[in-house]
Amino acid sequence: MAKAQTFGEKVAKAQLKQQKTCPVCGAALSYVKVIDPVQLPGGQFRFRPRMEKICKCSNTELMGS
Ligand SMILES: [Zn+2]
Repeated sequence: MAKAQTFGEKVAKAQLKQQKTCPVCGAALSYVKVIDPVQLPGGQFRFRPRMEKICKCSNTELMGS
């Protein structure tokens, strides 16, 4: 008889699937919202939000630049 899965186990598995790790340093990636300014042909600016994945090594890259 198969053991019934608890809710906690299900959640833990779902989080494990979603959690992505950096191929460079192997640390867990976290997402930050970055706003990109985009200049329109008319000279106006628009702001386009995007999600950026960061970890230890991309953090240092951002700090270093
Ligand atoms: Zn990394």
